[in-house]
Amino acid sequence: MTWALVPAAGSGRRFGGEVPKQYLQAAGKPLIEHALEALLAHPAVDGVVVALAEGDTRWPGWTQLHGKPVIACIGGGERADSVLAALHALPAGVADDELLLVHDAARPNLRDSDVTALIEAEKACNDGAILAAPVRDTLKRVDDANRIAGTESRDGLWRALTPQAFRRYLLQRALETARADGVAVTDEAMAVERLGLRPALVEGREDNLKVTTPADLALAEFLLANAT
Ligand code: C5P
Repeated sequence: MTWALVPAAGSGRRFGGEVPKQYLQAAGKPLIEHALEALLAHPAVDGVVVALAEGDTRWPGWTQLHGKPVIACIGGGERADSVLAALHALPAGVADDELLLVHDAARPNLRDSDVTALIEAEKACNDGAILAAPVRDTLKRVDDANRIAGTESRDGLWRALTPQAFRRYLLQRALETARADGVAVTDEAMAVERLGLRPALVEGREDNLKVTTPADLALAEFLLANAT
């Protein structure tokens, strides 16, 4: 049994509009619907827990999609709080050593092949696994005046994507430890790394993009409309 956790409580109003980004439309559906459908379409995924912002009036109230359960709960102030809330909302029967996939609501273009590769990688690594893509651009560090202060090596640098796959007990321990230490983690792997563990990294598709800017939304629209 594998469940997905989808933090969707961020306001993400970086487009200057009122609509949180997970509810922006692309190819006729909100981004969050694409994300949930992509997860639930995978045969290994049994259900999904979504963490919503308190007072979210846009959530359509799905209780199932693709014939699989969708459970909604209220998220928290930081992404990690939302993931912890989703963990606590898992149905009884999801065991402590069950595999969980944490996926951003604003990543609508997830493909089955990436989910399969991630699940396979996690089986081979006790510390969990994440999808990632290599850094391709040259990296510059700038000073306060936006003048280039140096060029960073991109050797061995990767961009962390989602889903990220961990056993339930490990994810919970990692996030609770980060919270107790007052450390804001920007992804789940970072919380696990803080325990001294080393999750596996799997090269994922670069078109599994997180929508953050209007340009991302235009690209997502194109990718989803032309998906084969
Ligand atoms: O803002 P960012 O793009 O990093 O958000 C990544 C994901 O985490 C989004 O799906 C967002 O809704 C979610 N999130 C959340 N709770 C927060 C902050 C972000 O569920 N407090």
